[in-house]
Amino acid sequence: MVFSMIQPHTIDGKQGLRGEKLSNKKLGSTFMAQGTLKIHSENILPIIKKSLYSDKEIFIRELVSNASDAITKLKVLIENNEASVTDYAPEIRVKIDQASKTITITDNGIGMSETEVETYIAQIAFSGAEEFVKKYDTANDKDKIIGHFGLGFYSAFMVSSQVEVISQSFRLDCPSSHWTSDGSNTYELNRIDTQPMGTKIVLHIDQESEDYLEEGKLEAVIKKYCTFLPHPIFVGDKQINEKAPLYLKSVQDCTDEEYKDFYSQLYPFEPAPIFWIHLNIDYPFNLKGILYFPKVTERLEFGKCFTKLFCNRVYVSSDIKELLPEYMTLLRGAIDSPDLPLNVSRSYLHMDKTVRQLGAHLSKKISDKLQQLYNSNKEDYIALYKEMEVFLKLGNLQDEKFYEKTKDLILFENSKAEWISIPSYLETMKDKTKSKVYYHIDTSENHFLKLYKEKEVDVLRSTSPIDSHLFQHFESKMPEVKFQRIDGGLDDLLTQEESFAPKEELLQFAKESFKDHKVEVELKPLGSTSIPGFVMIDEDQRRLRDYMRLQKQDFSTDLFGKKTFVLNANSPMVSKIEEIQKNRPELAKELLEQLFDLSLLSQKELHADALQPFLNRSMKLFESLLCQEK
Ligand code: ADP
Repeated sequence: MVFSMIQPHTIDGKQGLRGEKLSNKKLGSTFMAQGTLKIHSENILPIIKKSLYSDKEIFIRELVSNASDAITKLKVLIENNEASVTDYAPEIRVKIDQASKTITITDNGIGMSETEVETYIAQIAFSGAEEFVKKYDTANDKDKIIGHFGLGFYSAFMVSSQVEVISQSFRLDCPSSHWTSDGSNTYELNRIDTQPMGTKIVLHIDQESEDYLEEGKLEAVIKKYCTFLPHPIFVGDKQINEKAPLYLKSVQDCTDEEYKDFYSQLYPFEPAPIFWIHLNIDYPFNLKGILYFPKVTERLEFGKCFTKLFCNRVYVSSDIKELLPEYMTLLRGAIDSPDLPLNVSRSYLHMDKTVRQLGAHLSKKISDKLQQLYNSNKEDYIALYKEMEVFLKLGNLQDEKFYEKTKDLILFENSKAEWISIPSYLETMKDKTKSKVYYHIDTSENHFLKLYKEKEVDVLRSTSPIDSHLFQHFESKMPEVKFQRIDGGLDDLLTQEESFAPKEELLQFAKESFKDHKVEVELKPLGSTSIPGFVMIDEDQRRLRDYMRLQKQDFSTDLFGKKTFVLNANSPMVSKIEEIQKNRPELAKELLEQLFDLSLLSQKELHADALQPFLNRSMKLFESLLCQEK
């Protein structure tokens, strides 16, 4: 088969790097020489093999992308009447041969002549793709060329002890050629019998990479990277890519069903998403994609990113959490940007300017879309809000620009079960609460809620631990506004001076009773008679404690132990205790302690150590009640 050996040759580094001209002034030395750095190809190949790619499996992505590019190029030539091929049926075939331990990737694309093999394959970092893109304007979606670095082909050596390239150019008068190299700095190039048009890459898989010879594994890797490539890809006899990615279709032509189908194509086992944003950015870089708000499940997974990054329909990575602000990692979907570097490792991705701008642009698109939904259909927005609130709240905390655009889209349920924003709370309550925003947490304070309701003061419901940070954040942005949990302070608005019956004796007694508990005692005339008393924990103290808990820091409970026990001077129960105190001070003390513990319990503040004394006391009081019944 071998006709003539053209030449054994040495693989070239395409160019040396330009040496910086040394400034002799700066160094205070005599100028000696100026030059060009020299690169030895024998040193470069191992570097490419080891460091350029973060993952060995991407060899298949690179070679299939090259095959796909070869087909795209031929199609462009056919359209330009520069290639005479009739009934062109493009295809890429990947085959495993167990006996010879090879993987063969065959395409019927543009092919290469001997000189092209020499130029494109034998010169590292010489990209035929770039040349082609310059010559033919292939910026439209259908003719996108993937390659651009001229390095992808060499990833083949990450898994191969030897690589063969057999190619026949579409110019059928060019002879077929056979290139072979073992990944050292030499290769052989031979002229061979005429082959079918296109290129065949034969990888002789090395010992450490034999797992790729399993069809299941290889197919999974090809599916992962190449599902959206535009030309038919067969692994064995099976075509693995049938649908174009939905993000390429224009927004007006996509149905909800299609969006959901695309989502399940990306995440086969996930419940349907709740909302999506179709992206089509062309300035300052090109990007298409669909971002989805997933259905919120019990567990929120931080520290992982699920959005899949593509470059010209080729999957790049979903391990991009460092590239996006943390809150965005809660979203899912696919983003495709031809401006992203494909052939590179993660550390390189970080240095890329486009990549660094990505988060900011997505953030803008998302906030625009949410604003638009809020303004156009508030009901729909509210229906989706529960699933989006963690995203919105985190985004407000982590991203200044996002905060500016979406702060008023954060809603809370008020006492009338309406969803309202902080500005609208402040506006409707301004006469009553001035610039205070009252809130309660889901589980407790029902007595208090009643108090606020009686005074027609609206109280917002906080359901998430993030809220405490969010309130802090809002306060720092709007210094005149203060958020207060309803059991975190006693405002004039809840007391009723006119009915105040001073109970000085009881107050002194209670202070004496609690002197060992590090508890302040106050007597206040509350606007309702049904609450005998409650424990007030300072808002700032509570927030600091919640913060430290969230950071999992150890803290002494003493530090946050200072509490105020407020007794309601208008409560008949308190009056009764005052009476009892005169004759049975021991019982009165126990009743006060019981009230105190009950209040802590309802606020989820009863300490584990206090539980047993509380139970013992409850039993004792219970018994004495039963005794009276005798
Ligand atoms: P890139 O694809 O980034 O340009 P590669 O190292 O993968 O870099 O390939 C270098 C060049 O070799 C390509 O630009 C292309 O001109 C040529 N080439 C590689 N594979 C094929 C193929 N299957 N068919 C035709 N030409 C190819």
